[in-house]
Amino acid sequence: SAWEKRVTKSSRRATASNRAVLVTGAAGFVGMHVSLALKRRGDGVLGLDNFNRYYDLNLKLARQRLLERAGVFVVDGDINDAALLRKLFDVVPFTHVMHLAAQAGVRYAMQNPASYVHSNIAGFVNLLEACRSANPQPAIVWASSSSVYGLNSKVPFSEKDRTDQPASLYAATKKAGEEIAHTYNHIHGLSITGLRFFTVYGPWGRPDMAYFFFTKDILKGKQISIFQDPDRGTVARDFTYIDDIVKGCLRALDTAKKSTGSGGKKKGPAQLRIFNLGNTSPVPVSELVTILEKLLKVKAKRKMVPMPRNGDVRFTHANISLAYRELGYRPTTDLETGLKKFVRWYLDFYPGSKKKSAW
Ligand code: NAD
Repeated sequence: SAWEKRVTKSSRRATASNRAVLVTGAAGFVGMHVSLALKRRGDGVLGLDNFNRYYDLNLKLARQRLLERAGVFVVDGDINDAALLRKLFDVVPFTHVMHLAAQAGVRYAMQNPASYVHSNIAGFVNLLEACRSANPQPAIVWASSSSVYGLNSKVPFSEKDRTDQPASLYAATKKAGEEIAHTYNHIHGLSITGLRFFTVYGPWGRPDMAYFFFTKDILKGKQISIFQDPDRGTVARDFTYIDDIVKGCLRALDTAKKSTGSGGKKKGPAQLRIFNLGNTSPVPVSELVTILEKLLKVKAKRKMVPMPRNGDVRFTHANISLAYRELGYRPTTDLETGLKKFVRWYLDFYPGSKKKSAW
């Protein structure tokens, strides 16, 4: 088929590093940036994405065009498609899988719970099945989420903290993913690294996230709702800039050990890791708005509203000492610097902004 030819070609071309990486969710926000970074340094990269309509499809298609121009082909397919995955692993001997496909967003789970089970649980299992049957077996790096800390009130969050109180179905499916990873590591000897991302933002970001729709609404002069917790104070997020996350993903990939397979006892147990990738400096959402006002040179129409019980947690804050020690992960972008880059992208490229875009 057409894609088979493209896949064979792109994998043959890209062998400079001896790494061949399958990036799932490549037309997504983090997936696009990670794919570009891998390609830039000479890794073989193949994308996979089902181009779902959770948010603006045109944004995903624009990311895909950017990837194509950089020489990264994105297969249009679902991680639940076992036959497709088998074919992909047959055609390309992937050394690594960077698994970033998921149903993201905490609030949407109230409308469409099934999509979380489909992509984050069933899809993950299906992908791991394909990985264990593949020869060679790839090492897997995948995106969990800071949301697994749930209603835990101890901050900053460290990897050893409890994760048994998910506040949303999204969080519950990410937590389930961590348990599933444990099983596949234990039984099948797969090398698996989970990364708990903390509120990732930046150019080409997701329109369903607050910094993005605040920007849109502030520019339109629309009122924005800022949640506050009447009992416990500030609502804040440990906003983490996309380039810092990308560096963390690449470090996780580079330090990943090979899968040992189910008969791998002689070679020792396969690697199983979990890391926080955050910024270690939570910023109140009201301050996020103040920074946006400054950058956009427009005053926001703010409305403070009590935080509804909709899956959001009040506060996130990463302790990143483990990722620092084992991955050399060190975020370097503060919120204002990162938002400046987002705003520039938004004004220059995003069709929803005032200027017409070049898409
Ligand atoms: P995103 O929605 O932009 O990207 C996910 C991509 O996966 C989308 O392009 C979507 O079309 C694709 N996809 C979804 N289900 C699929 C399926 N069944 N088969 C194939 N493709 C599918 O989200 P993102 O912000 O880039 O997030 C990437 C990963 O990081 C996700 O796992 C997400 O849960 C996790 N994460 C993100 C953040 C954040 O702040 N952005 C925070 C914590 C965790």
